[in-house]
Formats: sequence, structure tokens, C-alpha cells
Amino acid sequence: MRKTKIVCTIGPKTAACEQLKQLAEGGMNVARLNMSHGTLEWHRDVIAGIKRINKKFGLAIAILLDTKGAEVRTGDLKQDLPLKIGDLLTLTIRHRAELEPYSVEVSHDGFVREVAVGDIVLIDGGMIRLKVLEITRTDVRCEVLDEGMLTSRRHLNVRGKSADLPAITEKDWIDIEFAIAERVDFIALSFVRQAAAITGLIGYLKEKQAPISVLAKIESAESIPHLDEIIAASHGIMIARGDLGAELPYEEVPLLQDEIVRKCRAAGKPVVVATHMLESMIVNPTPTRAEVTDITHAVQQGADAIMLSGETATGQHPLKALGVMDVVARRIERHLAQDTTVRVKASSQSKEEISRSAAILGNNLGVAGTLVITRRGLMAALLSKCRPVAPIFAFTNTTHVRRRLGLYWGVHPLLVDLSNDPEVSIQRATEKLLRRKIIAPGDRIVVLSDILAGGKFVETIQVRII
Ligand code: ATP
Ligand code: MG
Ligand code: MG
Repeated sequence: MRKTKIVCTIGPKTAACEQLKQLAEGGMNVARLNMSHGTLEWHRDVIAGIKRINKKFGLAIAILLDTKGAEVRTGDLKQDLPLKIGDLLTLTIRHRAELEPYSVEVSHDGFVREVAVGDIVLIDGGMIRLKVLEITRTDVRCEVLDEGMLTSRRHLNVRGKSADLPAITEKDWIDIEFAIAERVDFIALSFVRQAAAITGLIGYLKEKQAPISVLAKIESAESIPHLDEIIAASHGIMIARGDLGAELPYEEVPLLQDEIVRKCRAAGKPVVVATHMLESMIVNPTPTRAEVTDITHAVQQGADAIMLSGETATGQHPLKALGVMDVVARRIERHLAQDTTVRVKASSQSKEEISRSAAILGNNLGVAGTLVITRRGLMAALLSKCRPVAPIFAFTNTTHVRRRLGLYWGVHPLLVDLSNDPEVSIQRATEKLLRRKIIAPGDRIVVLSDILAGGKFVETIQVRII
């Protein structure tokens, strides 16, 4: 059983039911929908497809809706514009159909106020770099620093600066309502700069009684000084390395990835490493060895999940890319399993310490897994935080808790009818594991559950032989 989870971005290459089914068989745990692309109808069809597959095959693939956010893009071009070093290009907020040659619109009017002479502007995360020479009320004149082809509607970043745009745009609110109506499991909020946006959204979802977890996407330069508050406010984090490596120098990205994964693990919040993990596989059938090493690094760090973007959305080899992630993660996990030390600090909180003790016990005994009964997923999340060697069989009675747990490291979430008598629930859960041949008679497991003792519920850690 793979412990590092895989998030797949669904796009034109993977939206049909048959393709979704193949991704499910290939080990996709979470399906990501990027609201920067596609219509609501398109996304609605994909969501329906995933729900059908979940139902038909008894799966629990979670759905993650990624907001467009306050991204800045260049405008439409009548035709692609080849740029050479030294060319002059005007970025303008004059919104009119006809612009003079070597001019392109910018989607954000504040852009002219926010840039300064000497700033470096990156198009598509650095595929083309520009240097700001001159600024007027409506125009930013730039010198082209790298040769490249400018196409329509490209991503635009200013090195070291985050655009001063609303944290959640009007379009985002429409998409959030859509997420609530479609009962998705996660919303990933793009370009988070401060914790307030996350707190606001979580509050709104609570008001609407929508059981949706909110992930903060770390991709803005401005989010870095507020990392601790953002992690504390969010249900989880996505490290969106593309824009992060454009707003900040790319050599900062690996260090930030280390820091964010470490902090999320300490806080017990799921963390997704995203962007460019197998970029070359958009066209090639095999990964570069550097990409294999990048996946290895994320797995060694103990990230909860790794993500595919263009590889599965528009790539030539979506299933092969998923297969590469799967096989590399399993290989590295097998290697890491030799180390049975539980590296979580002792706690004075009872639930946390019980989980930690269960992980230590399971690792030392070399059990086949830990069975945990978890209504809202808390005990499963606490166990996952301890990164035990054996899988965590998390039994809950709600489908949305089951799907949400799909993002957590090492958690194999399953449904069970919970009885008022915990022993009955444990029996039902064990039978399910046996029936599905996940465990076998004679296996030793740890059980983490309440039991009834003298008419009271008591939290217990038990060792059982099946
Ligand atoms: P972000 O910065 O939010 O990741 P992105 O443009 O990099 O935005 P990805 O989700 O990483 O988008 O997907 C990679 C590419 O796949 C996109 O640039 C787009 O061309 C394509 N794509 C993704 N989702 C869709 C979709 N729903 N419909 C059409 N194309 C899509
Ligand atoms: Mg985005
Ligand atoms: Mg992307």
C-alpha cells in the first residue's frame, strides 16, 4: 500500500469517464479541478464522472477544486509574437481592441502602480523575462531579456512582488458556491498572502454547513512572512512551486519546500508538493532522472501528497506519469520503512499521546496495520502525523470524512456502520479488512478505539491477532 498520496489534475486528456477510471485504477487519490481553465459545465461533468466511479467501484477519490485566484495574465494576441533579446515590449492597461505592434494588455489595472523601473517581469514563470524601463499612467515599457514566443493569456509575475488584488475574487466566489453545491471535498485557495483569507473562507463554509476542507496554496512572495499563521489557519497546504519560483528566486523554492513540509508535519496538517514533478512526461514516455529524484525528495520529506498538473491534464502520457509517481513513491517508502523511529514530540494532550504510543507500539511489533475507528477523522489524522511504518486502516461512517482522509499520508480510509458498542464496530471493520484481503488470519494489528468499560467509553490501544 502506497503511503504518499497522489493528486491528479483533470484536463482534456483525462476528463472522460474511461480515463478517470484508468486514473483511479492507477492509484489517483485526489482529483484536482483547476478553475483557471474550463467552464462550470465542464467541471460539473468531471465531478459527476468521479462520483459515478466512486460509487461503482466502492472507491473514495476526493475532489479538490483549485480556485483561479487573483492571477495576472497578459491579454489576447491576434497572433503569437516572437520576441528577441533587446526588443521593446509595452504592457498596457489601455483596454482596447487595437494596440500598436509590440504591445499587449495586462489583466490587472493596478499593475502600472505596483511595478517600478528596474523590476523584472516574468512571463509564464520565467519562459520570457522583461526588465521595466519606463512607466506611464497606462503603460509599462519593458526590454526583453530572453528570446521567446509570447502567446495569448500568459501568466505574469513581478519578481519579489505580489499583485495587490482581492484575496478572493468575484469569479472565485462563484466557483466556491459551485464547490458547495457540488459537494467537493477540498478547496485550494490560490495566491494566499495572509491567514485572513483562509479564516474568512473557512467561516463562510461553516455558515453554509459545507464539509469542505480548505488548503492554502503557497505561491505568493507575500505569503512567506506569514507562513506560520497561514498554516495554523488552514486545513492543509499546497506548495505551488511554479508561481512561487517566479515571485521569488527559484533557488529559494527547495528551501521553502523543506520549511513548509516540516512545519505542516509538525502541525499535523496535510501538505501537497505540486508543480513540474514530471513535466517532461507531458511529451516523453519516461521521466528524467532529475524528476525521479524530485519525487524521491518529496517522499523522503514525508509530504502527504505529490501532484501531477499538465502531465495528466494535457499531457501525452497521463497514465504513465501516474505510474511513475506510484512506482517511485513505493520504492522509496520501502526503503524508508527500515527506520522505525517515530519522530513526533511527546505531548501532554491525551489523544495526541495515545496516537504516538500506538505508532511506536505498531512499529516495534512490526504489525500489519493499525485499525482506527474515527468518526470525524481526528484520530486517523493524529496517527498519520506519526508516519507509522504499517498502513492506517481508518474506519468512519461518513463518505465525506472517508474521502477527506484520502489526502493524509498512510491512511487507507474505509466505511463502516458504527455501532453504539465499539466492539461491534471493530468486528465489522476487521471483517471488512479480511473480506477485502487487506489483512489475513493470523496477522497482528494495533486497534485504536473506544471500548465500553463499566458503562463508560474508554480510549484504548490494543494488540490483536486476527
Ligand atoms: P496554476 O498556476 O493554477 O497551476 P496552470 O495554468 O499552471 O495554473 P495547471 O492546473 O497546472 O494550470 O494545468 C496545466 C495546464 O493544463 C494548464 O496550463 C492548461 O493548459 C491545462 N489545463 C488544466 N486544466 C484544464 C482544463 N480544465 N481545461 C483545459 N485545459 C486545462
Ligand atoms: Mg492557479
Ligand atoms: Mg500549474
